[in-house]
Amino acid sequence: MRIADIYKGNTPVLSLEVFPPKPGYSLKSVFRTLDGLSDLNPSFVSVTYASQGESTDRTVEIASRVRDEYGCESLAHMTCISHSKEEVASVLDNLEDRGVGNILALRGDIPADFSDDKRDYHFASELIAEIAARNNFCVGAAAYPEGHIESKRISLDLDNLKRKVDAGAEFLITQLFFDNRIFYDFMERARYRKIDVPLVPGIMPILNYKQIKRILMMCEVSIPAKLLNMFDKFSHDPGDLAKAGVDYAIKQVSELVEEGVEGIHLYTMNRVPQVREIVFRSGLREKT
Ligand SMILES: Cc1cc2nc3c(=O)[nH]c(=O)nc-3n(C[C@H](O)[C@H](O)[C@H](O)COP(=O)(O)OP(=O)(O)OC[C@H]3O[C@@H](n4cnc5c(N)ncnc54)[C@H](O)[C@@H]3O)c2cc1C
Repeated sequence: MRIADIYKGNTPVLSLEVFPPKPGYSLKSVFRTLDGLSDLNPSFVSVTYASQGESTDRTVEIASRVRDEYGCESLAHMTCISHSKEEVASVLDNLEDRGVGNILALRGDIPADFSDDKRDYHFASELIAEIAARNNFCVGAAAYPEGHIESKRISLDLDNLKRKVDAGAEFLITQLFFDNRIFYDFMERARYRKIDVPLVPGIMPILNYKQIKRILMMCEVSIPAKLLNMFDKFSHDPGDLAKAGVDYAIKQVSELVEEGVEGIHLYTMNRVPQVREIVFRSGLREKT
């Protein structure tokens, strides 16, 4: 099913994001994660993609098995910055052959030693237009409530978001954020600019101090004072920090749902018990 159509049905739509294991490691661990999450009955599962392309095949394989073996719709992430046109065409052919019909089209982070000369792609909008032109995929794109790390002003980023929607993106999933007010403001600004496709908050639970620090450094999102307090209180106790992180995510999700968001996209970090707790305690699904 096209994901854009899923958002036309009952909301909030629950989607779960998983990532392939590192190269060289078996795919078993991600399927164990999926085994533990499948009875949550997510509307779709998204599978990340390594910018440098080393996990291309694994993303395609996981996304296609999510559909075939778990009976759940899947969304394959795909980046373009390190690919040639031919490579992109080959990944798209592969996705089509394996029956994966939904793609989150991204630029990807620019590798440190990258030269501009031979790039076939510069921005996600180029990939989106190319996929949309094939007419057999439903395409989504990334959105940044606090602005993308490279952008000088949020208004410029919103211009880019509009460009991505005009190029064919039919739904948008946001980067993590920890203050819902930032999302509401962003949503208002996006709607004012006639960005009218579903705009779905991406929520990442804080489960591990080192991991969240690395992610925060990568995307530069702001930390509300109450979160700083939480870090101060629990940073030396990983178990308590993870519990507080789950509580924080539950509060964020519950408030967003109350405000009537179209969906909740959970960055699962491939964790099972914590994600189950967030989904049940925030009321996204009932325990049976
Ligand atoms: C929901 C979500 C999922 C993600 N999944 C993955 C993943 O699986 N794998 C992965 O490697 N990364 C992933 N990322 C990270 C993403 O690849 C990076 O944030 C990347 O740096 C930007 O990708 P983009 O598609 O948003 O790029 P773009 O939309 O191209 O934007 C990149 C920057 O260029 C600017 N820009 C765009 N077009 C123009 C223009 N015409 N002129 C001037 N400036 C312009 C934008 O404002 C922005 O600052 C994900 C991000 C999100 C939010």
